[in-house]
Order: sequence, then C-alpha cells, then structure tokens
Amino acid sequence: MNAPSVQSELARQHVIDPEICIRCNTCEEMCPVKAISHDARNYVVNFEICSWCNACIGPCPTGAIDNIRNVRKDQPYSLADQLGWDVLPGFTEYDNMAVGSATTEVPDEVQRITDVATAGQGGQALAPWSASHPYVNLYGPNNPVTATVSGNYRLTAEGASSAIHHVVLDFGTTPFPVLEGQSIGIIPPGTDANGKPHLLRMYSVASPREGERPGYNNLALTVKRVTEDHDGKPSMGVCSNYVCDLKKGDQVQVTGPYGTTFLMPNHPGASIMMICTGTGSAPMRAMTERRRRRMNQKEGGELMLFFGARTREELPYLGPLQQLPKDFIDINFAFSRTPDQPKQYVQDLIRARADKVAAMLADDNCFIYICGLKGMETGVLEAFSDICRARGMDWETLRPALLKKARFHVETY
Ligand code: NAP
Repeated sequence: MNAPSVQSELARQHVIDPEICIRCNTCEEMCPVKAISHDARNYVVNFEICSWCNACIGPCPTGAIDNIRNVRKDQPYSLADQLGWDVLPGFTEYDNMAVGSATTEVPDEVQRITDVATAGQGGQALAPWSASHPYVNLYGPNNPVTATVSGNYRLTAEGASSAIHHVVLDFGTTPFPVLEGQSIGIIPPGTDANGKPHLLRMYSVASPREGERPGYNNLALTVKRVTEDHDGKPSMGVCSNYVCDLKKGDQVQVTGPYGTTFLMPNHPGASIMMICTGTGSAPMRAMTERRRRRMNQKEGGELMLFFGARTREELPYLGPLQQLPKDFIDINFAFSRTPDQPKQYVQDLIRARADKVAAMLADDNCFIYICGLKGMETGVLEAFSDICRARGMDWETLRPALLKKARFHVETY
C-alpha cells in the first residue's frame, strides 16, 4: 500500500478477532444494519455497511468484536480477507494516525479532562497486563444512553461541611459494561450562559463490574455537591448539584464508558495500593468491593488503602470500610479537620507506614492507584521519594519503571 497523502483518505474499520471470538452469534443478532455475517470459520464485518452504532460491542462476551484498524478508504479488509484470517492483521503505520469519526472518537472534553487528571503519572500509563478488556465510548454526546436513577443516598452526615451522595443508575436492557477504575459522562440538562447545551461531566464509577447490585445492569457514583470554586468563593457546580438532587425514577443522559488504563489487575497474588482523598475514593470503592465479593476465592494479594477526608463524618463509606476484615485490607484513614487533633494528610500516613510502602513499591506484583485532589499528588510523590531515598532506592528511576510495568496510575483533579 502506498502511504496516503492526507489522513482524510483513511477510515476506521471494525474487525473481529478470530482468536478470541467464541462464535456465539451475539454480534450478528445485535447488528441493526446487518453488517455482520459468518461462515463456518469466522465472523466478519462488512466495511461498507457498518454504521458504527456500536450495538454489537457491549453484548460481546469476550471483547473479540471490539477491534479497530485504520485502513485506506479504498482498500479496507474485504469479507474474503476476514473470512481467511486465523489471527487479526498487525497494526500498520496508519494505526498511529488520528482518523476522524463522530461516533467513535472520545469527546474532546473527555480527552482534555483525562490529560489533566493523568499528568501526575509522568507519562502514558498502560493497563495492568491482567486487567480485563475495557469497553470505551459506546455512547457519545450525540447518542447518549438514558439511565434511570434507582437510588440517591447522602453518605456524609447532615450538617457536615460537604454533602457527598451515592447515586445508583440503572441501564435497564441497554448494555453498559464498565470495569472498576473507569468513568462515565453525565450530560446535565439545559444550557450554559451562552445558550449552548452543557458539556458532559465525568464521574468515576464506584461499583464493581457486575453492578452495584450483583447481576443488575446498574452502577454507582460518588458525587460531592459543589458549592464553591477552587478559591472558596460561592459557586454552584452545574452537574454535581443536578446529580445530588436526582430522585428515584429520574432519567439521566449518560455517555461513555471511558478509561483504558486505570484498571485493576486480575491475576492471583496481585497486590493493590490505593491512595485517595474525598470523592477520589470512588474507584477505590469499586476495586475493594470487587475483591470483597470474591474474598472466598483467596486469589488476591494484599490491599492497602490510604484515605483522606476532613473528618470521620465526611469520609464516604466509612462504616462499610470499618467492617472489612483486617487481613483483607490494611486501611489507613487521615483526617485533616478533627477538632483538637493535628491535621493529618494521606502522605503523613504513607510516611508512617514507610517499611510496608517501600516493600510494596519494590514488589513487581503491586499496582499503585492515586485518585482525588491534585494538591495531594505532590505530597504523596514526595513521601514516596523520601521513603525510597532512606532505603537506597531512587524514586526518579523507580517511577518510570513502575509506569512501564503498568504499576503506577494517577487520576487527580
Ligand atoms: P476535600 O473534601 O476537599 O478534601 C479531602 C481531603 O484531602 C481533606 O482532608 C483535605 O484536607 C485533604 N487535602 C487537601 N489538600 C491536600 C494536600 N495537598 N495533600 C493531601 N491531602 C489534602 O476533597 P473533595 O472535595 O472530595 O475532592 C476530591 C477531589 O477528587 C476532587 O477534586 C474531585 O474532582 C476528585 N475526584 C477525582 C476522581 C478521579 O480522578 N477519577 C473521582 C472523583 C473525584 P483539608 O482539610 O486541608 O482541606
């Protein structure tokens, strides 16, 4: 193939991985435009017919359907090509090029927020090698899915300085597969000051992959009602107030899921160190709950949690966390505004547990997740650096190595 002169000569082509496809026929049944067919050997997608509605992706039990190749528009993989495959063709130079498509590209605001949130990693993260296959961007701002609120509970005490809500959204019969660590978008109704529809806001999923209620097609969010801006001036967050005010039965426009790397390892023996503040606990709750529900399988390595909040009354999920067995999870709470007590931040407790933290940093089977306030990130990284220095390790060398091994994940705002 000659290189095309402009990227507009390229297109994205949906392809099915013959190695992991179990030939269950689900994709062919789901496809509303009949772009998917099969012979005795393979399931294939007709490039000319596929409309990128993505109806096939969520229901696919293996993820075989969720593969894309960039191709020349005039030279897509033909049906005959695909029917002859034993394995997917490798990536080409075209796969590194951005190819436009309204329904398949992650929205700009999602990319922008993700770039800011993950800057503290110091580079592009990878998903842990044993992470499950994430589905991404099944629903965009132009084709959101309607979810129904099945519960909205205030987690923080009445009278506490912040109101944090646990909100459960149900997707009914519409596929919305998520993994722990992924986010979703919510589009608040109405328009902004310029009369334009509000942009979507992103929220981390707080429930494990099989649903807030196991077996239900639902998920949970941890949302704080925003009443002031970063400088402490009164300012009502558009989406957080909308979500915190939702009533059971209300309908919400949802996009996503988003996130391909802040995912938990699944292999036996994998340890997880989680560091969070406030509502940054959402993905940690999802991962902990996933492990809790599978506790009897004794497959996990250690779980260690550093969790910072203003007071006990403002720490989401305090009660359930305190119920967890000590040999299941090593929990360290840091409270910054307890009357008559010194201010404590997560980084203080990380230093206090330096020996164990150092051992986990050095353990190739330990995966580290940081989520919450941007300000916390610097303090945590300084604590890691000091802990390493005191033990003859070099954080500046370790950090890129952790990133390369998909062991270091940061999402801070
Ligand atoms: P918050 O209640 O304002 O603060 C939580 C705790 O963090 C408080 O104890 C606070 O102490 C402490 N803290 C403040 N500065 C710190 C620093 N430099 N180092 C360590 N701890 C510090 O937090 P929040 O309002 O829930 O905010 C949570 C943040 O997480 C939001 O910015 C939200 O956008 C983000 N978030 C991220 C994700 C995600 O990445 N996926 C998901 C959900 C939420 P003080 O007493 O000093 O204030």
